[in-house]
Amino acid sequence: MTIGFKQPDNEPFINNARSVHASFQRTPMTNFCPHVTIFDSHAHLDAPEFDGDRARVLRDARAAGVAEILIPAVTAANWPKLQALCVREPGLHPAYGLHPCYLDQHNEGDLAALEQWLQIHPAAAVGECGLDYMEPGLDRERQLHFLRGQMEIAHHLDLPLVLHARRAFEAVIMELRQFGKPLRGVVHSFSGSAEQARQLWKLGFLIGIGGPVTHERAQRLRKTVAMLPVECLLLETDAPDQPGARYKGQRNEPAFLREVLDCIAGLRGEDPKDLARATTANARLLFRCG
Ligand SMILES: [Zn+2]
Repeated sequence: MTIGFKQPDNEPFINNARSVHASFQRTPMTNFCPHVTIFDSHAHLDAPEFDGDRARVLRDARAAGVAEILIPAVTAANWPKLQALCVREPGLHPAYGLHPCYLDQHNEGDLAALEQWLQIHPAAAVGECGLDYMEPGLDRERQLHFLRGQMEIAHHLDLPLVLHARRAFEAVIMELRQFGKPLRGVVHSFSGSAEQARQLWKLGFLIGIGGPVTHERAQRLRKTVAMLPVECLLLETDAPDQPGARYKGQRNEPAFLREVLDCIAGLRGEDPKDLARATTANARLLFRCG
């Protein structure tokens, strides 16, 4: 098994060349080259919120340059719908898993069913799985049980993990350490510290950044994103949730990923085209697309 995401020890983790405040500028969307595409590494396009206009949403995404989308499952019941959607439409990559916020819908047999499902159906990753210590009423032991089970499956089948961590970055890092066997993947919607990002990167995990970075008040996240090596960054929308500042109050869509791209490029003082190319390459390598 190869782990493609270990950072060479001699490379500085922090991108010291950038000054967050000096380099920030908003790049107008009109300058974007139509030949450069973006990879939305996390969008729940199978969610019922899109049942009424999924074809239109997908068309708009492609028109905005979002050519590929990773769609993570949340419950076993939705795996067939997700599988059918990804077979039907080019550029959609499924991940199958059991999300911690849907704990009451998971059965004890779902972990075995997941492994069987993954042996039959091609998948880009295992997930969405992880720990949510924010949502009240979610039994932490049971969350850990399903996370550990999915870590075993990902390791066994040599698939990346799509991890959810809310108020649980330390706990997730500890789980990955204690697992003791090689894993790789992405921690989506990252909002932890630069030190936590560094630890995750060393453990083989990329950092997924979405709408929250576009909010001016997210100062710590914006500084962290400006300093991270581009090799560990993935872009995401988490549609239909977490719209950026420009789309506040609306249902989020993959087409809105351009706002995230432009914002991060501005924070890092980079050309959005270069950032689009780099993060798309990161996603295609992690999820072994193409
Ligand atoms: Zn999600």
